[in-house]
Amino acid sequence: AKSEGANRYLFFNDSMNKQAVKRLQLENLMRHGLKEDYFSVYYQPKMDIVSGQLVGMEALVRFITPKGGVISPASFIPIAEETGQIIEIGEVVLYKACLAVKNWINQGLFHGRVAVNLSSSQFSLPFLCDLIDDVLQQTELPSYHLELEITEGTVMQSPPKAIEVMKKLRARGIHLAMDDFGTGYSSLAYLKQFPLNTLKIDKAFIDDMNTARGRNMVDTIVTLAHNLSLNVVAEGVEQETQLAILRKLRCDVIQGYYYSKPLSEEDFSKFLQEQKLK
Ligand code: C2E
Ligand code: CA
Ligand code: CA
Ligand code: CA
Repeated sequence: AKSEGANRYLFFNDSMNKQAVKRLQLENLMRHGLKEDYFSVYYQPKMDIVSGQLVGMEALVRFITPKGGVISPASFIPIAEETGQIIEIGEVVLYKACLAVKNWINQGLFHGRVAVNLSSSQFSLPFLCDLIDDVLQQTELPSYHLELEITEGTVMQSPPKAIEVMKKLRARGIHLAMDDFGTGYSSLAYLKQFPLNTLKIDKAFIDDMNTARGRNMVDTIVTLAHNLSLNVVAEGVEQETQLAILRKLRCDVIQGYYYSKPLSEEDFSKFLQEQKLK
């Protein structure tokens, strides 16, 4: 009991206190942001590696502060996951992304798919499918224009349950991508049972392609995906040399700063207009 008391004292040290305060501030900021509509969606193009044509885009959330500063999701998504705010944020992102894409389709600027990230807590919502149906109906976006990116960690929490949810989503014509592939512990036995369309290779593997071992690793992942009839997307492609290697390895789609950073809705509209002129 004595040592427990000591631990409890350690728990309230100064740095922990500062962290807790920062968390609380961020939590309040997010609550305020949801009310005042400070969450915005950026879009990053996904390009066909052979034709160089746009095939889709990933929707990425941004928090735009009243002063116009941009807070990246890496700093608030983990906290939003813990507080449960990610559910409301995720709904805002889904709605905005579907609406934006519906407009681009109407303008004749786009006919592909928008990929929206789904967090673990969103994925486990019992009413997930109803929520998605509602958003698609409200935005009048046909379901086949939507793709959902789900991480390995999310589906591995309970694979049989995940398969059931994934099948329901697929039945609607929604595409499914496994995100950050290779960073979690996904079981190969399950991989072939998941009703996926796409596998996204995490940036960490792309960064590692400057070594022979790293290239072999990506080669193996691409082959594995193709053996399972999955489309392969490489994320975080920044350099021409990486693009050349990925082309040789028969990767299908690339996403990264090499082509474009994530763009605001307005800038992505311009990007689409430029693509059309090509
Ligand atoms: P992610 O799903 O793996 O998304 C890819 C991240 O890599 C994005 O960071 C993107 O901006 C960045 N990226 C893309 N190409 C490059 C590149 O060439 N170089 C570099 N250095 N980075 C590149 P971002 O937008 O900061 O998002 C970070 C993570 O936050 C995402 O990783 C995803 O896990 C999460 N996230 C973002 N938006 C959402 C959302 O709407 N919902 C949920 N649940 N999570 C989101
Ligand atoms: Ca993603
Ligand atoms: Ca990813
Ligand atoms: Ca990633």
